Amino acid sequence: MTDRYAVFGNPIAHSKSPQIHARFAHQTAQDLSYSAERINEDAFEAAVEDFLQGNGKGLNITVPFKERAWALAQWRSERAELAGAVNTLYRLEDGRLAGDNTDGVGLVRDLADNNEVDLEGARVLILGAGGAVRGVLQPLLAAGARSILIANRTSARAETLAQLFDSAAGVMGCGFDAIPATAFDLIINGTSASLQGELPPVPEATVSAHTACYDMMYGAESTPFCRWAQAQGAGRVMDGLGMLVEQAAEAFLIWRGVRPDTAPVIQALRESLTAH
Ligand code: NDP
Repeated sequence: MTDRYAVFGNPIAHSKSPQIHARFAHQTAQDLSYSAERINEDAFEAAVEDFLQGNGKGLNITVPFKERAWALAQWRSERAELAGAVNTLYRLEDGRLAGDNTDGVGLVRDLADNNEVDLEGARVLILGAGGAVRGVLQPLLAAGARSILIANRTSARAETLAQLFDSAAGVMGCGFDAIPATAFDLIINGTSASLQGELPPVPEATVSAHTACYDMMYGAESTPFCRWAQAQGAGRVMDGLGMLVEQAAEAFLIWRGVRPDTAPVIQALRESLTAH
C-alpha cells in the first residue's frame, strides 16, 4: 500500500508542499502520496489521530496548528522544544507521536549551503518575534551566529523571546526604534509585513556591501524588504522560497531516511512562481 503524507492547515489552498513532496518522491523513487488538507479549528487533534492510522505515515503542520501539534506530541526533538512549535509529526517505533520542527534548519541550510552565507561569528538582526522567528533562533546559534538582535514592532515580544536563551548566548530583544545604526552581517525579515506590502522601519545604516539580507516571505515578485535591501546595496538578497523547500527536505529525510536534492526543486518552484 502507498504510504500517505499530508500537510494540515487552515487556510491551505495555496500550499506548495504537495508539489514539493511529489518532486522529492519522484526524484528518490519513493512510493508515497502527499496531500494538503484544510482542517477545521475544532477538529485538529482528532484529524491527526485519524490520519496517522494505517498507511498515514507523517504530517506537516502549518498555520494555525503548530503550537497545538507541539502540545499533542508525546516526544519532541530539542529544536521543536525550543521552537515551542511542531511542523512535522510521525510515529516512533513504540507508537508514540513524535514532533519535530524543521523550519530553523531549513533556513540555515538555505543560507549556508544554497547561498554560501557564512554564519560563523555572524552578527544577526532579526525583524519580527512571531512563531517563525522563535523557530530559527537556536538553529542560527548552533550554526555559529555570534549575536542575534531581535527587533519587533511590539518590543515586549522580542524581549520575551530573547529571555528564552542564556544571557551568554548573545540574544537580545528590542523595538524597531532601538535598532542601532550599524551594519550587520545578516538581516532576516521574519515579520509578515511584506504580506501587507509594508516594510519594517529599519535604519539604512544596518546594511553595508557585505550584509546578507533574507526575507522569510517569497512571492512571484520581489518583496518590499528585498527591494529595500537591494536599494541599500546589500551584498546578497534572498527570499524564503529556499527555506520552504529545505524545511520540506528535512521532513522528508525524517520520514523516509533519504535526503532529496533540493536545488532542482527550488529552481522548478521559482519558474512556476514567476510564470503565473
Ligand atoms: P506571526 O503571526 O507569528 O508573527 C508575525 C510577526 O510579524 C510579528 O512579529 C508581528 O509583530 C510582525 N508584523 C506583522 N505585521 C507587521 C507590520 N506591518 N510591520 C511590522 N511588523 C509586523 O507569523 P509567523 O512568525 O508565523 O510568520 C512570519 C513570516 O514568515 C510570514 O511572512 C510567513 O509567511 C513567513 N514564513 C516563511 C516560512 C518559509 O518556509 N519561507 C516558514 C514560516 C514562516 P507584532 O508582534 O508587533 O504583531
